Amino acid sequence: MNKQITPARFRLAIQLVFTLFCVYVGFRFAAFLSWALGESTEYVARPGAVEGFLPISALLGFRQLLSEGIWDVVHPAGLTIFLALIVMAFLFRKGFCGYICPVGFISNLFERIGRKMHLAIIPHKWIDYPLMTLKYGLLGFFAYIVFFSMSIRSVGEFMTGPYNVVADAKMLALFTNPTAMTMMVLLVLAALSIVIRNVWCRYLCPYGALLGLFAWFGPTAIARDETTCIDCGKCTKGCPSGITVHEKMIVRSPECIGCAECIGNCPVDDCLSFSVYKRVKIPWFAVGIGAVAILLGFYLWAKMTSHWDPSVPAEMFRKIYPMFLKIS
Ligand code: SF4
Ligand code: SF4
Ligand code: SF4
Repeated sequence: MNKQITPARFRLAIQLVFTLFCVYVGFRFAAFLSWALGESTEYVARPGAVEGFLPISALLGFRQLLSEGIWDVVHPAGLTIFLALIVMAFLFRKGFCGYICPVGFISNLFERIGRKMHLAIIPHKWIDYPLMTLKYGLLGFFAYIVFFSMSIRSVGEFMTGPYNVVADAKMLALFTNPTAMTMMVLLVLAALSIVIRNVWCRYLCPYGALLGLFAWFGPTAIARDETTCIDCGKCTKGCPSGITVHEKMIVRSPECIGCAECIGNCPVDDCLSFSVYKRVKIPWFAVGIGAVAILLGFYLWAKMTSHWDPSVPAEMFRKIYPMFLKIS
């Protein structure tokens, strides 16, 4: 392995690029919104990537796609991103969490601070496992509402209703104009993330739970060669998801984010590797590159086939946003 480009540095570089990209998208969307609300005369195209921050809307779009074969016309890019992440999770574990998600990146930063201060822990499994069920409970709750409680008619009505149409503007306001309650929740989560590793991702994020389930069935997993392993435990120590890698022949855990840090920490060449169906070994960087390639591939496909931008003339946004923001 090239000692200069370690899995940790490789991951950090990709995380940084995507986090900066999200900040750029946020500024572009804010400029668009300012134009749409008549606060600015300079038109800025609405960046479709902003819909990646609307997972509930994407889940509803997925339901509509499955039930009626209709692609979401309100937030088409959100559905594209959602499907890309599902495919990504199946093929390359939770590569989205490991390399792309900006929330995961921020969570990792707090985890690093916690580790440096010798504070960050993963609670004992008697506490850890029950807490982990919280995110699956939240996922089950949303899945129940979207797939069982709502009729397909009410899904369609919600998707074209004011609340969903301007959900992106409301999401932006959460960051630009946070309430005291939002700030308090964020501060509590930040403080908790220093003492409990990746507390949000590990226990509370339903999106991560969904991706973990697809990853669980996927073909790619960390494999350990028992014959060369010296049982030093360095893989386990370095795993950000707290997986006891040194005790496993194959890591199928839905917590594995495909970061390859266990491989980077292992002192024995080829003892740990990513393998596909336990047969074919792939390089440690293939998961990160594969995750990014899938996202870009879906983006290009959606752009070329009109599955990315809403089919609404730009001028219409100037009517929709002020009106819908008022009544939603
Ligand atoms: S668990 Fe959720 S917040 Fe954390 S990295 Fe994954 S998708 Fe992002
Ligand atoms: S098992 Fe390896 S690849 Fe998976 S999360 Fe842990 S360190 Fe990363
Ligand atoms: S770091 Fe490598 S050698 Fe050490 S326990 Fe893990 S797999 Fe075995």
